[in-house]
Amino acid sequence: MNSGDRYAALLALPLREEPLIEAPRHFTELELQAHWFAGDFGRDFVTADGLSVRIVQFGRWNREAGPDFAEAAVAFAGGEPVRGSIELDPQALDWERHGHGANPHYDSVVLHVVFESSRDEFFTRTSEHRHVPQVRIDPTILGAAPALAQPEAKPGRCVAPLAALPEEKVREVLFGAAEFRLRRKAAALSRLSELHGSDEALFQALAATLGYKSNKLPFTLLAQRLPLKFLRKTDAHALLFGVSGFLPAMDLGEFDTPTRTYLRGLWETWWARRAELQRLTLDRELWSFAGQRPANHPQRRLAALAEMIGQWPKIRALSKRTDPRAIQEFFGGLHHEYWDLHYTVSSKPAARPMALVGESRVTEMLTNVFLPLAYARKDPRWESFRELPASLSNRRVEIAALRLFGGRDLGRTLLRSAAMQQGLLQVYEDFCMRDASDCERCAFPTQLAKW
Ligand code: SF4
Repeated sequence: MNSGDRYAALLALPLREEPLIEAPRHFTELELQAHWFAGDFGRDFVTADGLSVRIVQFGRWNREAGPDFAEAAVAFAGGEPVRGSIELDPQALDWERHGHGANPHYDSVVLHVVFESSRDEFFTRTSEHRHVPQVRIDPTILGAAPALAQPEAKPGRCVAPLAALPEEKVREVLFGAAEFRLRRKAAALSRLSELHGSDEALFQALAATLGYKSNKLPFTLLAQRLPLKFLRKTDAHALLFGVSGFLPAMDLGEFDTPTRTYLRGLWETWWARRAELQRLTLDRELWSFAGQRPANHPQRRLAALAEMIGQWPKIRALSKRTDPRAIQEFFGGLHHEYWDLHYTVSSKPAARPMALVGESRVTEMLTNVFLPLAYARKDPRWESFRELPASLSNRRVEIAALRLFGGRDLGRTLLRSAAMQQGLLQVYEDFCMRDASDCERCAFPTQLAKW
């Protein structure tokens, strides 16, 4: 039994795959669509009529008028796949409310997916009066049991039992929790590869890490809507900026010469393609700019993503080699003439060049993408996780260290390791966030004794 299995046994919970984007309590329609396309709801369902249904191909985000996803393939009751479109709606009645039933653009729909648990009957029909099978999904299946409380930043009841254990054993428990977490990410990446192919899965996962926490959704949507295969044949830089909503009509005269030259280059391509890609273009409101370091502005991250597409064969090879140092060197060397010196297109040039992808982002890529991929293919090099230093911590992981170790030096030491941080986060989510008894009834201290 490996350490991840031992942690799972201690937790007595089944393996749950990590969704590509974090599951909130309430979902917008766009979030539901992104989760659907990422396969976070699975691919096997039962229709409201009781037929089994398998999504053979999820298709592509539709650029034209009509349903959400075009060119999908769906097999009913184990039969031959039926090709057509898939429409997603928060509620079944949205089909009528939005006039899809009278709109011939929706006649290609072969499956209507709705996100509600109501059993009220609504029969989906096209303008030709064809019955469309309906699948109802409860979106809360994405999240674990809801957190009972926001854990306080104070030492918890497990400080004493953890202090009584040899440091070696404490590290082993936390590494077990980290391995358990890595395994969930590996399972999600394997599923994404199965649905969209290994290159697209790698691309979507790396894009999500470039989104940080606050812009994961727009980055995920961009990678889903503009697949790698499509971007590699075109001017990826211009289309990513255009579809992100960062290229509205603007007066270039208000910018300095380097910015004007850069934006004009993007505009020349985007202008010709924008009508075709209008439906896929993100609302600017989807982006979050608050509370971020200037060097982490989403426009710089987008430029990094575009540069990565230009060097895709190298990234693919790196993902197979799983050499953290080579990955760090590659991303450390990624640069762009304009973005090396700019925070945003409206900022003044920086005094010194900045890294396009900083060290902490590369650690996130290793933790969330490259090492889980190695784990998924049973490559022992995933264990380089043990030696990976953490380049940043966050409030959550610091609270976890305080709750588990109080003021002990060990807590601070562990925060320097990426794997220990991941283990702390896992314990925090599995125990601290589920505890509403101020530690009194938490099982972690007693479970520790079983390790
Ligand atoms: S809730 Fe449990 S794991 Fe968290 S600090 Fe309290 S005893 Fe420890």
